[in-house]
Amino acid sequence: MLHSLFDNIPEEVRKRVEYLRDEIRKYDYAYYVEASPLISDREYDRLFAELQELENQYPSLITPDSPTQRVSGEPLKEFKTITHRIPMLSLANTYSRAEVEDFHRRVTEMLNSTDVEYVTELKYDGVAVSLIYKNRLLEVGATRGDGFAGDDITQNIKTIKSLPLRVQRVTINGQVLEDFEVRGEVYMYERDFLEINHQRGLIGEKPFANPRNTTAGTLKLLDSKEVAKRPLKIVCYYLHSDRIQLKSHYDNLNYLAEMGFPVSQHTKLCKSINEVFEYIDYWKNHRYKLPFQIDGIVIKVNSLAQQRILGTIARSPRWAIAYKYEAETAKTVIKDIVLQVGRTGAVTPVAELEPVFLAGSTISRATLHNADFIKEKDIRIGDTVFVQKGGDVIPKIISVIFEERKDDSLPFIFPEYCPCDYKSKLKKLEGEAIYYCEHPECPWQIRRRIEHFASRNAMNIEGLGKKVVDQLVTNGLLKNVADIYDLHKYRIELTKLERWAEKSADNLLEAIEKSKEQPFHRVLYALGIRYIGESTAKILARHFNSIDDLMSANKEKLILIYEIGEKMAESIISFFADEKVKEIIGRLKIAGLKLSKDTHELQDKAGILSGKTFVLTGELKSYTRKAAQDLIESLGGRVSSLVSKNTDFVVAGENPGSKYIKAKELSIKILNEEEFLELIKSKLFNRI
Ligand code: NAD
Repeated sequence: MLHSLFDNIPEEVRKRVEYLRDEIRKYDYAYYVEASPLISDREYDRLFAELQELENQYPSLITPDSPTQRVSGEPLKEFKTITHRIPMLSLANTYSRAEVEDFHRRVTEMLNSTDVEYVTELKYDGVAVSLIYKNRLLEVGATRGDGFAGDDITQNIKTIKSLPLRVQRVTINGQVLEDFEVRGEVYMYERDFLEINHQRGLIGEKPFANPRNTTAGTLKLLDSKEVAKRPLKIVCYYLHSDRIQLKSHYDNLNYLAEMGFPVSQHTKLCKSINEVFEYIDYWKNHRYKLPFQIDGIVIKVNSLAQQRILGTIARSPRWAIAYKYEAETAKTVIKDIVLQVGRTGAVTPVAELEPVFLAGSTISRATLHNADFIKEKDIRIGDTVFVQKGGDVIPKIISVIFEERKDDSLPFIFPEYCPCDYKSKLKKLEGEAIYYCEHPECPWQIRRRIEHFASRNAMNIEGLGKKVVDQLVTNGLLKNVADIYDLHKYRIELTKLERWAEKSADNLLEAIEKSKEQPFHRVLYALGIRYIGESTAKILARHFNSIDDLMSANKEKLILIYEIGEKMAESIISFFADEKVKEIIGRLKIAGLKLSKDTHELQDKAGILSGKTFVLTGELKSYTRKAAQDLIESLGGRVSSLVSKNTDFVVAGENPGSKYIKAKELSIKILNEEEFLELIKSKLFNRI
């Protein structure tokens, strides 16, 4: 029932509306700004629909800042802000077929015609972007932000290989499409997402929640080189030109394809609402065969003239609606709860399930995250549970069916000891929910460490994958990473192992030999120091000429390095303090691995600032005056205390003194702290 403006609105309704808005804002922030959602999309959509329903009943409660009236999200301070010429709206969404029928009814009523075509498309679960082309060249790429203004992410967008930076000539009514806007969705394949999380797990970083959040987080990275490493994809679904009269959405998709943009192969032009439902039904089951995630389908009125008549309301157009699929749930039984031990010793509980078919595949395991999760949900062995595979790719247990619990069931007691042979006592770090096995010879950790050491981005030893590592550890041929370089002494033993022959043994030994050529920074990464990923390993390799230098650095020295935080510094110190590690490094040295920089790297590094004179003034945030001087000198530069016409750069921190004025007078290049660090970084990057 609709209440008029002057109705008395019950206090509990007001309170509920306020509560819902606060909750939604909190979830929006976590989702859009931090790319780390706190609840599932379904739960979020339920709260949102409840708020919409209350505002429909009591329209006087609507305020312009209500989440129902505006597109959520906001531009970030780190990027230049781009104002969208045409707002980038959200889509009304529904999980109900009846509401799709309502949508169709509203459209035909407003158009006063039943002659409506729809285009149905997959709703890619990614991040919307706007791309501005001038003279057929990509000029700007921006995120949606709050719908009116987004972030300038042109450099990051350019790393997507399938996106044309210059487009093919397409002529419409005798005019070439030169200047136009394209919109699309940046997304990621499931397998790439899993690989990224696997890599993050290897270096002890928190995994991303799902491919969408990984994509959002990637587009927000400030370093485009890092973005380029992540395999982003794009699909385009919107074209707008100010000069050329375009007629239909379906034609536009064809023009996009002709110009060379990636468009979806699964779009359909529907002549009736029944065809729309056929499309919905088809993709309900077939979506699992796609290599990427969709969270539904989008239904759009095809004629652009009709779209204009229908117009928009608040945060979404009236000519489109998203039909979302419910995340699938299955019922099954927990046969056992086992512990998995990762490379860093982190222990993750996993539920072994009675195999069940869910969302396109049979699943037999589900993550239980940590001890707190099990306790909170009171999950026990033998329980009947609901499992769900939503946007997260990895199945998870959503609830226990308590009515079906057996009388003799007992609460799960988290084991105190590691499942490895050493039965080492598990420890929990302060403030963390995860238990760790700290035994240096835990065979599970050893397996993961060796796998990481040999992995593609580390020492890249072909043939030393998960299965082979498992076999060699089980057979006692590998106990740590240094043993890899002694394997040649056991060639005969290798050839006698199951599934091995002379050829495969020789291939592996050859790959091991070849890995000795990997540069210093790769060896550092391969060692698997907690929190030290590929880029941090490179940074360390830039600052330290050899592993001995790094091993003798204390915490103070480490944190003077711009990119190294306290947590990383502590992790490096405790890693090298271990006697076992020292012994392994000694053996790697003897084996001939590159544990110091090559001569050319040393020369390169030493020379990057050679011949340049710097003057420092004011306070720097990330370096003491002495540390900045050391840094410049270690790179071949000279630091002087006087500004003269021979000075190349004046680095000015907070509250600079008279040297700053002098530099201005002499027109000497003045760098602020960020520019100074950028200069060094850019020079170093060009070398390593
Ligand atoms: P939306 O995701 O429901 O729909 C609009 C978006 O769909 C567009 O911006 C575009 O990015 C995308 N899209 C994909 N394929 C498309 C296609 N073929 N044509 C047009 N657009 C296409 O809306 P939204 O405003 O981006 O996000 C709202 C949704 O996000 C919510 O419904 C909710 O599911 C989710 N959300 C979740 C949380 C959470 O905490 N879990 C928080 C905020 C939002």
